[in-house]
Amino acid sequence: MSILPRISLKPEVADFLRSVFMNKEVLAAVGHQEAECRFQKLLACLSHPPSYTCVRASTHLAPLEEIKHKLAEELKKQQQMCSSSAEEVSLQILPHPRIPDVLLLPVDGPRAVKRLTSEVVVGAQCGSAVLRGAHVFVPGIVASPKYMKAGDVVSVFADLEGKCTRGATSFQGQSVFVGNGVAQLDRSSIFCTNEPAKGIGVRMVEPLYQSPSFDGVLPSLAFLQNLPSVVVGHVLGPRPGERILDMCAAPGGKTCHIAALMGDQGEVVALDRIRNKIDRIRQNAQMLHLRSIKAFCFNSTQAVSSEPAQEAAGPPFSPESFDRVLLDAPCSGLGQRPNMCSTWSLKEICSYQPLQRKLFHAAVRLLKKGGVLVYSTCTVTLSENEEQVAWALDTFPCLTLQSQEPHIGAEGMLGAGLSPEQLRLLQRFSPELNWDQTGTAAPLPCRADGDTIGFFIAKFLKD
Ligand code: SAM
Repeated sequence: MSILPRISLKPEVADFLRSVFMNKEVLAAVGHQEAECRFQKLLACLSHPPSYTCVRASTHLAPLEEIKHKLAEELKKQQQMCSSSAEEVSLQILPHPRIPDVLLLPVDGPRAVKRLTSEVVVGAQCGSAVLRGAHVFVPGIVASPKYMKAGDVVSVFADLEGKCTRGATSFQGQSVFVGNGVAQLDRSSIFCTNEPAKGIGVRMVEPLYQSPSFDGVLPSLAFLQNLPSVVVGHVLGPRPGERILDMCAAPGGKTCHIAALMGDQGEVVALDRIRNKIDRIRQNAQMLHLRSIKAFCFNSTQAVSSEPAQEAAGPPFSPESFDRVLLDAPCSGLGQRPNMCSTWSLKEICSYQPLQRKLFHAAVRLLKKGGVLVYSTCTVTLSENEEQVAWALDTFPCLTLQSQEPHIGAEGMLGAGLSPEQLRLLQRFSPELNWDQTGTAAPLPCRADGDTIGFFIAKFLKD
C-alpha cells in the first residue's frame, strides 16, 4: 500500500507522459501490460524519495575511509542530540562498490507514524525536503495551530497545490503527511513579526522517511548530491591541467566535482544565466577549497565569440577552446524525487527542447576537436533525452556516441529511432524499472543504483 499518493500532474501532462512511456517502439518490445505497469510505477515512485541518500565525499581533501569515519561520528552526535527516545537507530554508511567518492546511507521508510491533532502546514518544496531528511525551516511554514508554542509536538503536512493561505490556522485542501516534529518557535514569532524569522521552525523527530539531516555536517568533506549527478562527473572524465566548460552550472554541484576530479589543477569555467545563482557556485567552490573554478553570469547560448581567436578569461569564448564541455541542461525536471505535485503545463514542459538545442550548438562549437561533450538532464521525457541525441547525431556529423564509465543505470529508452547499439551507449536512470514499495527489492549495490531520481546521460566525442 502506498503511504504517499502518486505524483499529482495536470491531466494533459499525465497523458503526454503516458504517450512517452507507451510509445510504439516500447509497446512492440515489452507489450501493453508491461508498458502500462512501468508508467504506473513511475507515477508512484516520483512522489517518494530514493531509498539511499548519496553523499559525495571530498576525496581531493581526505581519503574516503577517513571521511566515512568522521561522518559516522558527526551523525552519531546529531542522533544523540535529536533522539526523542533512548532507542539508537543503527547508522549504516556504505562506500559505493564502483564509484570511489560516493558514500550511501540507507533511508528508513515509509515508517508507521501516528498523526497528531496539532497540524503545521508547509509548502510542497519544504515537504519534499523533509522527506529527504531535512527539518522544517521557518520560511517553509504556511499554517500552524492558533495557539502553537515552542515545544509543542505537531504533525507536519505538505500543501500539494500551494492553496493554503499564509498565516492560516487550519487547511482543508489537498495535503500529505510527512511526519511529526517539535515546534521551535511560537506561532507569533513565525507570522506576526515585522522581521521574518529564520532557522528551524519544526525539528522533525518522527519523519515518515528517516535519513540524517546534513545541515552543517562536515561542509567541506560531505556534499549531498544525487547518485546520477555524481556519475556525470566521472563520465565526463576530466584530467588535471585541462580546460573544462560547465555551461549551466548553478548551484555548482557538478562544477565542484569536476574540479575535485582534476585535483584542482587546470581551469573549470562555470556559466549560469541567473546572477544570484553565481554566488552559490562561488560559495560551494570556497566551501570545498577549490580554486580552479571561475564562475560567470552569462547566457550560454551566446557563449561563442564571433571575434577572431583570442584567449579570453571570461565569456564569450573562442571556438574550440575547451577540452571537455558539460551541458547539464535546463529541463522539465520530471525525474526529481520526491516530487508530490507538479503544476507545470504541457507547454512549459515542451519549451525546453528548443533551448537545449541552442545550448547544444554552442557546446559543439566551443569544444576542441578530440574533446568530450556530456549532455545530461534530470527528466524522463524522450524529447529532452533520446530525441536530442538522435537530433545531435544528425545535425553534427563530427559527433559520435561514446561508452560511459561507470555505467550503472539502464540503457536509453526506445522511441526516438536510435539503434540498439546507440541505446546501449546511453545511460538512463529509470526508477520505475526497480520500484518496489515493499522494500524487498534487490540488495545493494543494485538497489541504490536503480532507485535514484530519473536522469539521463549521453557522452559524445568530437572528431
Ligand atoms: N549543473 C548544475 C548542478 O549540478 O549543480 C545544475 C544545473 S540546472 C539543471 C540548469 C541551470 O541552467 C539552472 O541553474 C539555470 O539557471 C541555468 N540556465 C538556464 N538557461 C541557461 C542559459 N541560457 N545559459 C546558462 N545557464 C542557463
